[in-house]
Parts: sequence; structure tokens; C-alpha cells
Amino acid sequence: MADSDVASVPSVHRPRTADEVAEIVRLASREAVPLTVVAGGHGPWSHAPAAGIRLELGELTDIEVDGTTVRIGGGAVWGDVATALAAHGLALSSGDTASVGVGGLTLGGGIGWMVRAWGLAVDQLIGAQVVTAAGEVVEASAAEHPELFWALRGGGGNFGVVTRFDFVAHPLSGIAFSESVVDGDATAVLRVARELLRDAPRELTVTYMDVPPMDPSAPAGARLSAVWAAPEPDRLRAVLESVSALDGVRTEVTTPAYRDVLMEMPEPEPKEGEEPPAPPGFIGGNGLYAELDDALIERLVAFRRSYPASVVFLRSLGGAVRDVGQEDTAFPARTAAWFVLAGAFDVPGMVDDDSRAAIESDWREIEAGRLAEYGNFADTERPDAVTGMFSEAGFARLRATKAVWDPQNLFRRNHNILV
Ligand SMILES: Cc1cc2nc3c(=O)[nH]c(=O)nc-3n(C[C@H](O)[C@H](O)[C@H](O)COP(=O)(O)OP(=O)(O)OC[C@H]3O[C@@H](n4cnc5c(N)ncnc54)[C@H](O)[C@@H]3O)c2cc1C
Repeated sequence: MADSDVASVPSVHRPRTADEVAEIVRLASREAVPLTVVAGGHGPWSHAPAAGIRLELGELTDIEVDGTTVRIGGGAVWGDVATALAAHGLALSSGDTASVGVGGLTLGGGIGWMVRAWGLAVDQLIGAQVVTAAGEVVEASAAEHPELFWALRGGGGNFGVVTRFDFVAHPLSGIAFSESVVDGDATAVLRVARELLRDAPRELTVTYMDVPPMDPSAPAGARLSAVWAAPEPDRLRAVLESVSALDGVRTEVTTPAYRDVLMEMPEPEPKEGEEPPAPPGFIGGNGLYAELDDALIERLVAFRRSYPASVVFLRSLGGAVRDVGQEDTAFPARTAAWFVLAGAFDVPGMVDDDSRAAIESDWREIEAGRLAEYGNFADTERPDAVTGMFSEAGFARLRATKAVWDPQNLFRRNHNILV
């Protein structure tokens, strides 16, 4: 029976120290019960019911700044990190949403607003404190337990509970941010964005999203947003000229604080005596692509047009992501130029059996060209899919590391690496 089929209430633990985390890990191991590790709480296992022990890291949120070295508790969220670092004129490449956890995002890679400027979240990691499956507290870095440290950089929560992440942060005197609302031809915008990003300065990272009204992450419609990792709105305007000049595109440039660029996710209003409604299912997926070719652009635009409840989301890669060697971390596709997510919310009344089959079939055509799936946006527990989230060499190395650090597979409520 899968852990997620066990329909009983977990016992919830909120440890305050690494030693308390170790006690809980030893308890889960002794009692041989499923262990769910929760940081920001956005991953699928934090939502899926499971018995056993729920280890919530919400008390481990200290953020210590020492020069450019930043030590962050394993339960902190990125909005709080951005606020703390801004006081020192620093920032880290993270994600795009304030409430997402440092834990889940970093262990899976981390593709955010500074990804072309500074690389993945994990590229800034220089060490971690880890509670292992044996209930020991160890340090992992290039010098101590280097294979464990390697596996933490993209291999997810398979190897232990990270109670502290050590990063090197970057000086940031400000950013420029733009939003280009697209009322015109989305195909033309994506083609021009592709050409622009081929050799754009790495200060530029863009996101394109086209979402329906029921998506809480953004206003409905298509927009291309850009972050310029320097406080120079005029340079951002100039760099974006080819996009802004297109018919049906309205661009606005501002200079917010980095913290204000991170999205707030609205919490569902609790209704007295009622369980919060389950979010709708999602049919589709994501991929890391070497190129945004014309066929892919056309498929994505047609997909969004065909299904009213559909979402198309892209983020540019390249830049600093390519400075790191393919096998230097467990992230699967250093050469990818774009991250793409496409799918449809499975909303009753908007999606029936026929359209569900059509969405699935269209998604299969889109996914066919990807280099790898990005685990952080893969929202289901599909053990068969895990191999597609890593390079072949990376997957073999992750299995070997798992065999050393968690041979009994205590840490399995994640994209699980089976030995
Ligand atoms: C609204 C939203 C926006 C997002 N934006 C981005 C984005 O811009 N870029 C991006 O790359 N991803 C993004 N994601 C995906 C996100 O990175 C993953 O969902 C991630 O797993 C969430 O981490 P969490 O700590 O919030 O979730 P959790 O559910 O708490 O953690 C996810 C999993 O990570 C493991 N884990 C977490 N913390 C630890 C720890 N300290 N030690 C050991 N294991 C741990 C556990 O296996 C856990 O099940 C977004 C997701 C959402 C919902």
C-alpha cells in the first residue's frame, strides 16, 4: 500500500533544534511509519494525506548573515529571506513566490527571477546541516560528505532533513522590473522573446505566462514579465525594445524592491465548519527545453487557445545556469534554454472526458521534445517518472548516494530515488 493511501491523521511535530529533528527521525525509523517533511508546504506530499509522522520545520526559520554567507533554517520561506537580506544589500536567486520554502525549492534546484544572473538557487549553496536517516546530525559541503552535498543539490528530500542551508548571497542595489501585457499575437511575442534571450545580457530573466481567470497566481491573460538584476530601468527598456515595439504589447517598467517582486499567494478563505475545497486537478506537466523552436511555440499557443482552463508558463534559462557543469549538481539539464509548463485545471463543467483526453494527447506532443522534467513543478507522486527528472549519470549517482545515506528509504515522501 502506498503511504498516501493510509487514511489516518499523522502525528504532527514542530521541532525547534536539529537535535529535536533527529529524535523525531529516529522515532519514525523505530516505528517504521511514513515520515512527511514539511518546510514551505507547497509540495504535493505536504497536501496529500498520509499517516505516520508529519515533521513541520516551521520553527527552524533563523536567517543569519555573516558577510555574504547566509545561514538559513530549513523551515524558512523565501519572502522572509528576501526581507532579511535586503537589510544587508544582498539577495539570493530563489523562486518567484514569497511563501515557497527554502527547503523544497533548493533541494529540487530552484528556478527564479535571478536564474540567468546568478544561477539556480542550489548553485549558491555552499553547505548544509543534515539529519540523516540514522538520526545523526552531519555537515555536508564540498569538504565534508561531498557526495551527500552533491545529492542535496537537485536530488530533493531523499537524503535527510536539512535543518540549515548555507548560501553565498549576491550584492544587489536594486532591480528593474517590467510587465508587458500581450493583447496581440502571442506567437510573435514568444518568437521575439526567444531571439532576444539567445544573447541577452544575463542580468535579464523573463517569464511568459498566459493564465485563465481561475488561476490565483496572476491576472488573467498573457504577459511577459522581466527582471533586470540592476536598478537601471532605462537599460531594461532598451533591452526589451524588440518585444515592446510589437503590436498589441503594452510595457510598463518599475524599480521595486526584490521582496516586492515575489508573488503572494492568496490563502483560501476558511469557511466555518467546512474543510477547505480541494484544489482542482491539473492535466499537463513541465519540461526543460534546449530550444523554443517554432513548432513548440505554435503548440503552446494553440494549447492555450483550445482549452479555456489552461495555463502556459515559460521562464528563460541559460546565463549563469550554464556556468556550472552538468554533473556538478543533480540538476538534470544545464544546457536548457527554457523551462516550460503547460496544462489545464480539471474543472468540472470546463473539462469533460473528451477534452481531458485531448489535453493529455496535446501535452504528450509538447513534452516529447523536452530534455528532462523539472521535479519541483511535477505535482504527483509517480515513481515511474523519477528517472526522467535526472540525467542518466546523475540518476545512477543519486541511487548510489541513497544506498549509503538512506538504505531503508525512510525519506520516501518525495520524488523517490529507489536504490
Ligand atoms: C505558488 C508556487 C510557486 C512556485 N514557484 C517556483 C519557482 O519560481 N521556482 C521553482 O523552482 N519552483 C517553484 N515552485 C515549486 C516549488 O519549488 C516546489 O513546490 C517545492 O517543493 C516547494 O517547497 P516547499 O518547501 O514550499 O514545500 P514542502 O511541501 O514543504 O516541501 C516539498 C518537499 O521537499 C522536501 N523538503 C522540503 N524541505 C526540506 C528540508 N528542509 N529537508 C529535507 N527535505 C525537505 C520534502 O520532501 C517535501 O515533501 C512553486 C510552487 C508553488 C506552489
